Amino acid sequence: MNYSEIMIRYGELSTKGKNKMRFVKKLSQNIKEALSIYPDVQIYCDRDRGHVYLNGTDYQAVSTSLKKIFGIQSFAPSYKIEKSVPALKEAVQAIMKNIYQEGMTFKIAARRSDHSFELDSRDLNHVLGDAVFTAIPTIQVQMKKPDITLRVEIRTDAAYISHEEIKGAGGLPVGTSGRGVLMLSGGIDSPVAGYLALKRGVEIEVVHFASPPYTSPGALKKAHDLTRKLTVFGGNITFIEVPFTEIQEEIKEKAPEAYLMTLTRRFMMRITDRIREKRDAMVIINGESLGQVASQTLESMQAINAVTNTPVIRPVVTMDKLEIIDIAQDIDTFAISIQPFEDCCTIFAPDRPKTNPKIKNVEKYEALMDLEGLVERAVTGIMVMEITPKEEVKDDVDSLIEDLL
Ligand code: ATP
Ligand code: MG
Repeated sequence: MNYSEIMIRYGELSTKGKNKMRFVKKLSQNIKEALSIYPDVQIYCDRDRGHVYLNGTDYQAVSTSLKKIFGIQSFAPSYKIEKSVPALKEAVQAIMKNIYQEGMTFKIAARRSDHSFELDSRDLNHVLGDAVFTAIPTIQVQMKKPDITLRVEIRTDAAYISHEEIKGAGGLPVGTSGRGVLMLSGGIDSPVAGYLALKRGVEIEVVHFASPPYTSPGALKKAHDLTRKLTVFGGNITFIEVPFTEIQEEIKEKAPEAYLMTLTRRFMMRITDRIREKRDAMVIINGESLGQVASQTLESMQAINAVTNTPVIRPVVTMDKLEIIDIAQDIDTFAISIQPFEDCCTIFAPDRPKTNPKIKNVEKYEALMDLEGLVERAVTGIMVMEITPKEEVKDDVDSLIEDLL
């Protein structure tokens, strides 16, 4: 017997009252996108449950994809059975014989949403429980925490039986919390920050600063690959590459070593904010983690943050490095992050950056530069592309730039 559908239980969104249908609609859309690689699969989401009809598709593969979709609390692969008592009896016997192992306990949990069916849920529990005893005479019933819970649902179209419940990714459907711009380096922290933002329903676009020839094509590819890893959680991601060479050279020329980091970060923040505005996004997301490196003291964050009023979300700010690495391994970004390609920040990084930069000094050095011109040229020079879960990076620059301007 093969599974015919997977029944989905929604996560937190079931508590969202009036907005519920908006959440369900978005989740349904995300599931459809993620499962579009399986042409025979059909998806239908109602107010309370989602249904993935397998139509012969391999259940394991679909299950692997489902586990990554935010907004799903759990899901249960189910067998579709003809809505008659003899057919149900035969089915529970076959299923139980297949999964039963010596000493296991069980219970039947029947539910009847089609009230015209001849037996109510209590009668169903009895009749089908008896059928199990006939098939496996030594089996014991247990109401509290049995080894096997056989769920039987009588719906309008048919009856459905399931016995395993698989944990989903939790979180909120991507896109239900609005859009943010993720500052993605090639490091360990920012992809994790992006993943955590996606988990809370924020749709992301990626901004990456590149300083060729100081940074290599390898560093850029790393950022592409990291972005591709994030696409499995929320679908395609727009990747925006910012030319940063001119600014880094200018900073190097005009400011003392100790202030390079602060000035670089302030430029990144200004440019990201400008891009955010054009892309109609609400917040900036980055991978800053308190105390991890010299540029990530509270004083430093304050100096960097001072260039914008836009909320900056720092999902990993209070995490230990090892906690961040754990997540990076889970989401499969760690191995890419540790590839040895120089980031634009490491190249110009001073040995001893200021841990408590003074805004007054920062502004003094910035006054020596054509701030507006530098930012403007960087924003005008951006390259936009769409990164998809499967394919190689697609250059669709023209149409995307059109969208942007
Ligand atoms: P990460 O592991 O994310 O690189 P990090 O611990 O190395 O973080 P920093 O190098 O100080 O920290 O960078 C802090 C944050 O600034 C990064 O998490 C990222 O959000 C942003 N950032 C740094 N470099 C870049 C870059 N080249 N492009 C886009 N964002 C960047
Ligand atoms: Mg870094």
